[in-house]
Amino acid sequence: MQLTVLGSGDAFSGCGCNAGYLVDGRVLIDCGAPVPALVRRAGMDLQRLRLILVTHFHADHTFMLPVVIGAAALADAPVEAGLVIAGPVGTREYVKRLLQTGFGHHIIELIRDTIAPQFVILDDGDDVEIAEYRVRAHAVVHSLGPSLAYSVTDPTGARVGFSGDSTLCPGLARAIRGCDLFVCECTGWGAPVPGGHLYSEEVAELMAANPSTQFLLSHLKERNALPGALIAHDLLTLDVGGRRQG
Ligand SMILES: [Zn+2]
Repeated sequence: MQLTVLGSGDAFSGCGCNAGYLVDGRVLIDCGAPVPALVRRAGMDLQRLRLILVTHFHADHTFMLPVVIGAAALADAPVEAGLVIAGPVGTREYVKRLLQTGFGHHIIELIRDTIAPQFVILDDGDDVEIAEYRVRAHAVVHSLGPSLAYSVTDPTGARVGFSGDSTLCPGLARAIRGCDLFVCECTGWGAPVPGGHLYSEEVAELMAANPSTQFLLSHLKERNALPGALIAHDLLTLDVGGRRQG
């Protein structure tokens, strides 16, 4: 499994692009980053995109959705019909409103006639197979509800998790369990941060409780160090093995 960080920054600091992560060029998790341009810079294209997972509806995680869906539909060689857009309750209405606001009815019809996106609504504990990936959803506590963390497992058993935006909560702990790599938000360093986010000491607690999972810290306000953790930057690509470590 290959993970590419498209955006490693938090909402407002400019430390990196807003949230966006790509698994194998096929699964996009969140869409705050300028995904089409970054995907090209990473030497990939959007043709293989089969699934978009939305963690929650904040702008820094979703406002590029109309651009990505439009790019997938209107490219010279559009992605195959049946692109799945999955997220918490309200995702269908939210994405349609973004498309309507961003581009209007004409583009919505073109998107419907080319890739005909399918919506899948996920809830806490859901465990579904989409495009050959096993997706597990876990409700987490953030400043805006509903908010989901995910794990994504490929057919070889490699598993990567995504905190979305979250505080310390049982859903977050469940999302980390069994992951080879966990992409964990770390919005603050050394002191709590407002807005329902994690900071470095809390992330260190999670790492101590999950010694067989490699943590990759992202959603950064500034780039800093935490012993044992990897620190994300835009366009970082990592291979995630499927070997279980206990
Ligand atoms: Zn955010």
